[in-house]
Amino acid sequence: MSFDSLGLSEPLVRAVHELGYTSPTPIQKQAIPAVLDGGDLLAGAQTGTGKTAGFTLPILQRLTTMQAGANPAKRAVRALILTPTRELAAQVEESVRAYGKYLKLKSTVMFGGVGINPQIDALKRGVDIVVATPGRLLDHMQQKTIDLSQLDILVLDEADRMLDMGFIHDIKRVLAKLPPKRQNLLFSATFSDEIKALADSLLDSPALIEV
Ligand code: AMP
Repeated sequence: MSFDSLGLSEPLVRAVHELGYTSPTPIQKQAIPAVLDGGDLLAGAQTGTGKTAGFTLPILQRLTTMQAGANPAKRAVRALILTPTRELAAQVEESVRAYGKYLKLKSTVMFGGVGINPQIDALKRGVDIVVATPGRLLDHMQQKTIDLSQLDILVLDEADRMLDMGFIHDIKRVLAKLPPKRQNLLFSATFSDEIKALADSLLDSPALIEV
């Protein structure tokens, strides 16, 4: 099984090959076609399984192909990836950049504990993909420094950790303000009743993946 047989385009396959990935991991084999299909996804996956590429690669591809009809001169945030910690946010955004090396999409990362102005400047320059922790994203939404009206894809990464860290209210406030028609992906290592309730409220007939 190769990355191109999963339906990924040549620039993405070239980028992962350059990173030394020869074949997709089990989660990637399942998640990549499911996300490319455009439906919602509920995935049980630990860190270290390659889950980041599992959602990042097909998101990059979808944003590139969906861009064809839209006005490419006007960039808008079309994918939002929420993570529990700054470290994970930074790591995920680095992956977005690495895998998207041969595409023309732009990304940025935003988390609390650092100045908000550089994040505002990055948003003003125009980005397609935002990776964020929930608290700082809410700050931007409340200050209206981020426009999420064109959002197509939402990812909750390590959703169980986000709930453990007390982010459920922030997440609910974010969700309430997003455009309703979008693709939702939820990744979690464990499935408590709270996670199941969040998944039920967020996901529409999701594909189910467990590795
Ligand atoms: P993750 O579970 O997303 O945190 O990824 C764990 C590590 O596996 C990261 O360092 C990735 O760079 C690496 N990785 C992801 N997919 C592959 C693959 N298909 N082949 C080899 N390494 C990979």
